[in-house]
Amino acid sequence: MSPNRRFLSFERPRRRMVEEQLIPAGITDTRVLHAMNTVPRHLFVDDALLGHAYQDSSLPIGSGQTISQPFMVARMSELLALEGHERVLEIGTGCGYQTAVLSCLCRRVYSIERIAALHTKARKNLRQAHHANVMLKCGDGLLGWVEYAPFDAIMVTAGGFASDVWMEQLCEGGVLLMPEGEKGAHRLVRRKKLVAGIEEEYFNACTFVPLLKGEL
Ligand code: SAH
Repeated sequence: MSPNRRFLSFERPRRRMVEEQLIPAGITDTRVLHAMNTVPRHLFVDDALLGHAYQDSSLPIGSGQTISQPFMVARMSELLALEGHERVLEIGTGCGYQTAVLSCLCRRVYSIERIAALHTKARKNLRQAHHANVMLKCGDGLLGWVEYAPFDAIMVTAGGFASDVWMEQLCEGGVLLMPEGEKGAHRLVRRKKLVAGIEEEYFNACTFVPLLKGEL
C-alpha cells in the first residue's frame, strides 16, 4: 500500500457512490446505506485500482477472484435485514469488504476464505479499517463453521449450489442468502429456516466467481 493511502478519506466519492449509484438502484435500508457510506472501500482494493474503488463495478483482488460491485454488496446486505444483534457466517471472505460492511450491521461476523493469500490480505485490510467484531478462518466454507454454529444468518459470496450443512448450522428463523445456479447464470436466493420447513424467495440475477471445494 502506498504510504499516504490510509490518510486519504475518499469521503466525497463514497458519498457519491451512495447517492448516485446505490439509492437510484433501489437500495433503501438506511443502516445499509450508512454502512456503505462508512466503510472505506479504497482500503480493500490494490493500489493500482485506487481510482476505481468507488465505481459500481467488481474489481480484481488477486488469485483470480474479485471484490463484488458495491450495488451487490448493498443488495445482499439489505436482503439479510439485520437488526444489529445477529451472528453472521460469511462464506468467501475475499478481500474482506463485504465482511466489513456486515460487521457494521450485526454483532459478529465469522468469515471463511479457501485461498490462504486472500485470507491473509483480508486480515490486514480489516485491521487497517478497524473492524474488530470479525473472526476469520482459512478453510473450506462448504463445511460451515461448526464450532460457532448456529448462526442467525449465512451469506455466501461465491456462486454455485448450497451445502447441506449450512441449513443445519442456522438457528430457527435464520436466513441463508446466496447466488445460486450454474456458472454465469446465478440468481440470489434467500432461504429461511422455519419449524414448518423452508421458505424460499428468489431475487436478482447475478454473476459471481465460483464456489469451489477444498482450501488452497
Ligand atoms: N465478499 C468478497 C467477495 C470475494 S469473491 C469481497 O467483498 O471481496 C468470493 C470468494 O469466495 C473468493 O475469494 C473465493 O476464493 C471464495 N470461495 C469460493 N469457494 C469457497 C469455499 N468453498 N470456501 C471459502 N471460500 C470460498
